[in-house]
Amino acid sequence: MQKKYQHNNLWEETSKITFRNRVLREDITAEVVIIGGGYTGLSAALHIAQKGVDVVLLEAKTIGHGGSGRNVGLVNAGLWTPPNEVEEFLGIEQGAKLNRALASGPDLVFQLIETCKINCDAKRNGTLHCADTDRQINDLKSRFYQQVARNAPVELLGVEETFVRTGSPQFVASLFDPRAGTIQPLSYAKGIAWAARKAGADVYQNSPVTSVMFYNDHWNIETPNGTVKAKKIIQATNAYSNDFKNNGLHKNQFIDVHYFQMATEPLPQEIRNTILPNGEGCWNCATVMTSFRLDDEGRLLIGAVGKLSGVGGYMHRAWAKRKLKLLYPQLVGIDFKNEWHGRISMTSDHLPKVVGFGPNAISIFGFSGRGISPGTVFGKCAAKWAESGDCEAFPVEISIKKKEHFKKIKSNFYGIGAALTHFVAARF
Ligand SMILES: Cc1cc2nc3c(=O)[nH]c(=O)nc-3n(C[C@H](O)[C@H](O)[C@H](O)COP(=O)(O)OP(=O)(O)OC[C@H]3O[C@@H](n4cnc5c(N)ncnc54)[C@H](O)[C@@H]3O)c2cc1C
Repeated sequence: MQKKYQHNNLWEETSKITFRNRVLREDITAEVVIIGGGYTGLSAALHIAQKGVDVVLLEAKTIGHGGSGRNVGLVNAGLWTPPNEVEEFLGIEQGAKLNRALASGPDLVFQLIETCKINCDAKRNGTLHCADTDRQINDLKSRFYQQVARNAPVELLGVEETFVRTGSPQFVASLFDPRAGTIQPLSYAKGIAWAARKAGADVYQNSPVTSVMFYNDHWNIETPNGTVKAKKIIQATNAYSNDFKNNGLHKNQFIDVHYFQMATEPLPQEIRNTILPNGEGCWNCATVMTSFRLDDEGRLLIGAVGKLSGVGGYMHRAWAKRKLKLLYPQLVGIDFKNEWHGRISMTSDHLPKVVGFGPNAISIFGFSGRGISPGTVFGKCAAKWAESGDCEAFPVEISIKKKEHFKKIKSNFYGIGAALTHFVAARF
C-alpha cells in the first residue's frame, strides 16, 4: 500500500533564513501596495524601497508560500520558449526586448544574492538541458544556434562529455548554459524579503488581501485585521491568485499546472561524487519533462509535471522511483524522504503577462514554469513603473484583460497526460 500525499517541502526544512511573522493590524497609508510575497512582489518591494518610495507588501501566508518556496531552484537565462519563437509571437522588436531582458536575468539574481548577502546555497555552475534520444538532439541544436546568434556562451556537449557532467548513462547530448545556476529557492525569497525590509519596505505576512476598491482617488485595500490606502497596486499573486477569497483583485488568466518534486536523504559521499560533480541543474527534452539536481547537502531531487495528491500521486511516485534508478543505477536501495508539489501559471503562448486592471493597478503573472529570473526582473521593472508610471518599463506591453479559453480542459490535459505518461513509463 503506497502512502498518501503529505506536503513535506525540503526547502522549508533546510532554509537557514528565518523571516519573522508580522501581521497587519492597523490602518496605514503607502504610495505603493504589493500583493504577494514571492520573487516578483519581493523584488518589486526591494527596488521600490531602494528608491525611497513608501511601499507595503502583503502576503496571505508566509514569504515563499507560492511557487517561490517550492520550485526546483534552476536560475535560468531566458524562457522555456526558444528566443526565435518569442520574437515570432511578439514581433521582432518587442520579442528581442523580452529576450534581452531575460537573458541577463541570472546576472540580476546572482548580483542581488551577493549584494544583499543572501545565504541561499547559490551556485553559478550552469545548467544542462539533456537529450534522451538522438531525435531530441535536433531540438538542442536548434536552441544552441538560436542562442549563439544572440552571443550566448552556450555549449553543445556530446554523449561522452554529457556522461562526465551528469554521471548518468541516460543521455546522448546536452546543452550547457554557463549563465545559469542553482539556489535554495525559499532562502532566496526570504533573503529578498529581509533586504526589502532593510531598505525600508513594510512586509506583512498572514495578511491576505480580501478586497481592493478604488474610491476618492485612492486604492483601499482590506485584510482581516487592517487596511492600506495607496495610490498604486502591484498584484504579484501568479498561480496562487485564486486561493484566497478576495473582491476586486485581478482574476489572472492562466492554465493551472502542477509540478512535483521528490528528494532523497543526503547521499553517501562516495555515491555523491559520481553524480553531477560540477553541481549543474538539469532537465531533459521529454514532452513530460524531468528535472534533477543535487542540493547543498547532497540530496538528489527529481521533479516532473503532476500533483502528488489523489490517484495521480501513486503513478508519479512509482515513476519517480523507477526514474531515479534509470538515471543513476548506483542509487539502488535509496528511497525518497521529501515530496511536495506546487502550481505553475501557464499561459497559452508560455509568455509572462502584465495586465492593467484599474488606475495605477497592474497584475504580473504567467511565468509558465520559469519565474526565478523573470520574476526578479519583472519585479525590478515594476519598481520603475511605480516610480515613473512609464508603460515601457516592462519588456512586454501592459495589456488589458485577455481571456484564456478552455482553462480547465487544458489544465486536465497537462495533469492527466503527465499521470498517464508516468503510469506507462513506470512499467516499461
Ligand atoms: C514545483 C515548481 C518548480 C518550479 N521550478 C522552477 C525553476 O526551477 N526555475 C524557475 O525559474 N522557475 C520555476 N518555477 C516557477 C517559479 O517558481 C514561479 O514562476 C515563481 O516562483 C513565481 O513567483 P511569483 O512571485 O510571481 O509568485 P509566487 O511565488 O507564487 O507568489 C505569489 C504569492 O501571492 C500570495 N497571494 C495570493 N493571493 C493573495 C492575497 N489575496 N493576498 C495576499 N497574498 C496573496 C501567495 O500566498 C503567494 O505567496 C517552478 C514552479 C513550481 C511550482
